[in-house]
Amino acid sequence: MGTGEGADYIPALSEVDPCRYGIAVETLDGCSCSVGDAGKCFSIQSISKVFSLAMVIRRMGDRIWEAVGREPSGNPFNSLVQLEYERSVPRNPFINAGALVVTDRLVSLYDQPKNAIQDFVRELCGNNDIHYDRTIARSEREHAERNLALCHLMKSFGNIENDVEAVIDVYCHQCALSMNCHDLSRAFLFLADRGLNPYTREQVLTTSQAKRLGALMLTCGFYDESGDFAFRAGLPGKSGVGGGVAAYIPGRLAITV
Ligand code: GLN
Repeated sequence: MGTGEGADYIPALSEVDPCRYGIAVETLDGCSCSVGDAGKCFSIQSISKVFSLAMVIRRMGDRIWEAVGREPSGNPFNSLVQLEYERSVPRNPFINAGALVVTDRLVSLYDQPKNAIQDFVRELCGNNDIHYDRTIARSEREHAERNLALCHLMKSFGNIENDVEAVIDVYCHQCALSMNCHDLSRAFLFLADRGLNPYTREQVLTTSQAKRLGALMLTCGFYDESGDFAFRAGLPGKSGVGGGVAAYIPGRLAITV
């Protein structure tokens, strides 16, 4: 602790106390334990990309892989460089470009995509009290030049189906979902349980889809640090610039820091 910096390119995030620290573990056999600030909500940011991807895989199946790749990019999450020469098929669904394509498909699939995302996450963690932090969503929207650039470039290649403003609006909201470590660990448990929501017993993803989502998290979930995280922690997981990291051990547990 004590190293690193808050993400000040989203001004509302730079106001968060960087000393907050909490851990929550939820196991598949129903145990939970936590320390520190595990009950305090934070902005989940890119951890939301796991949920949006799960929603799209559920509805579109393998067709999403015509629009997004499955390789680590080796570049920072918001990089533009590969996009032009790879004809706007983003390397993977977790870098911003890939996540924007995924969100664009949610805008195509749902009349009320923001409500659909919120409902999906509520169902996964069994908590109806999950909301968007509108201040953070607005703050990101007001400084979204780079994501707008990514989206416009991809639209010029035909890989964004909807109005760019609409896609960015949904994306800024999904990133601004406010959750605590308990909620996030619970929401990740379906991945540890081969796609089965352990609370509702609903099969959210097929076993094969859940395993593939895990493979992507292990290889791409931490952008250009994915190899190092796999080397050190060895867990499929996802980070976010809100300061959170959520990960899981298949068949056992989910953990959020
Ligand atoms: N909302 C952030 C962005 O698009 C998410 C990035 C992240 O958490 N890595 O820049």
